[in-house]
Amino acid sequence: MINLLFLARPGAGKGTQAKLIAKKFNLIHLSSGSLLRQEITAGTELGNKIKDTQITGELVSDHLIIELIKNKLVDNPKAEGFIFDGFPRTLKQAEALDKILVEKKYPLNLVIVLDITAKEMMKRLLSRAKIEGRQDDNEETIKARGKIYDQHTEPLIEYYKKQNKIINIDGDREVTKIYDDLDRIVSQL
Ligand code: AMP
Repeated sequence: MINLLFLARPGAGKGTQAKLIAKKFNLIHLSSGSLLRQEITAGTELGNKIKDTQITGELVSDHLIIELIKNKLVDNPKAEGFIFDGFPRTLKQAEALDKILVEKKYPLNLVIVLDITAKEMMKRLLSRAKIEGRQDDNEETIKARGKIYDQHTEPLIEYYKKQNKIINIDGDREVTKIYDDLDRIVSQL
């Protein structure tokens, strides 16, 4: 079993890489942002609860997102492993994930940090907005999401450093170059 976590600012390309690596190694890609968007589109009770939060770029509650991810793990008992993308985003979520994975006896193997600057993040998300039309890809919300990342999510790097799980990858390169690095690293696990 291989469990990987992609940790990065919004727009670093973690979704793209997570998808490619999941396909190559037959892992289940769990993107918390996509899962939440699916709930909103489907108009579920959870979707209606979080709709406004997601549009403003604020984080949805730890409790809701932890339950959502837990359910996805339960739904896939035969998985060869998972790629966590966008979850955990707070210390509380990280502790909850550790606890869940320890209970399953398959802790995280590696935490991949894709490094990009705040300036690059803005540039990429504004160009993504033109293609995908996501409601939270506008200048004001992007700034808010960057601040939230710095405040709540970046501290997770320290948390996982203590577990010797961090690997830094330069995210400011072509998709194929980043993928080649990741492919090599994951192949060695
Ligand atoms: P993403 O697609 O990962 O950029 O996530 C889009 C939005 O979904 C975020 O700005 C948050 O509002 C919400 N979200 C995604 N993942 C989480 C999480 N782990 N904890 C709280 N909110 C989340």
